[in-house]
Amino acid sequence: MHNFEEKVIGIPRAMSFYSNYPFYFGFFNSLGIKIVLSDVTTKQTMSEGAALVVTETCLPIKVYVGHILNLLQKGIKNIFVPSLQSIDNKIYNCSKIRGLPDLIRNVIKEPFNMIEATLDKSEKNQGLYEFLAECVKPFGITDKALIKNASKAGWRCYNNFHIMSKSGMPYSKALSYALQGKVVISDSSKEYPISVALVGHGYNIYDERVCMKIIDKLEKMDVKVCTSLQLSSEQLDEGILALGHEKYWANEDEMTGTAGHYLKDSKIDGVITITAFGCGPDSLMIERITRKAKQYNKPLLNLTIDEQTGEAGFVTRIEAFVDMLFRKKRAVILNKLNISDREEEFSPNTDIIETRA
Ligand code: SF4
Repeated sequence: MHNFEEKVIGIPRAMSFYSNYPFYFGFFNSLGIKIVLSDVTTKQTMSEGAALVVTETCLPIKVYVGHILNLLQKGIKNIFVPSLQSIDNKIYNCSKIRGLPDLIRNVIKEPFNMIEATLDKSEKNQGLYEFLAECVKPFGITDKALIKNASKAGWRCYNNFHIMSKSGMPYSKALSYALQGKVVISDSSKEYPISVALVGHGYNIYDERVCMKIIDKLEKMDVKVCTSLQLSSEQLDEGILALGHEKYWANEDEMTGTAGHYLKDSKIDGVITITAFGCGPDSLMIERITRKAKQYNKPLLNLTIDEQTGEAGFVTRIEAFVDMLFRKKRAVILNKLNISDREEEFSPNTDIIETRA
């Protein structure tokens, strides 16, 4: 099946979409390739994807399969399914991400053109330019200078997105401005009494259906949410080292790098991790994060998600954690002020006390 005359590429709104889409957008658009995205994740996306893979498969892969089905339902026949093997020498992705094209080929029986470029800097010494050349070869684009120029457009969009994210702008807003070619610096001066680091892969924390809008929920509870997107690559590298080891997994920045940085940050009151049930790399990383959180005496909440996770239980755990953080902070402040916490003797306006902290 070849229909590359029409320069259209379908991109699943899942997995690497959450870290790389600004780049993909700038790159493909600059070469005149129209992008069609799958729709946002719904319950149906999850259940249709889950129905095609074995139960033990992690949720993000089930979601990914659901997004491929959604693109096929839209009539898209050229679908981008990259194999991101390793992003640097001896820094690997998990086997499911590495083998994504094979996995999709085995579970989706409907015919389509899979654009399965490989990024493998460890074994094949196949870096970004080889990867990008593979992405557009099916469309008949082979001019190296053209591809290099398109990659510059990709980086521009990607960097704009990161500049805005670092300024504290929410993920979806920063993405929207970056895709419009704008850079808008967030001037949010709202003060929050409590700050929490949210640690998880982009596909777990920015897919609003998968994480049940955890960021919105925390902000409504008056909690400031800090993620990997506010950190520089140097801070993330230091974070990984702070947990006592060297980078091995490609998406470690989002987990150990972020946790290692925020665990040391006295302005962060607690850490919440989100991991998918059955994720091998995350279970190793969470172990290290948990040990270090004890050393730093930093409250930690580990949340594991799968397609069965119910919103009510999820919210209850977050509320209980946030409530504990508020109480802890209040106790610390009262202690500093040498004020007894017995309510019958002194009933403070907690809002004011916590804001001053
Ligand atoms: S890193 Fe974990 S959650 Fe992500 S694809 Fe691999 S197993 Fe699944």
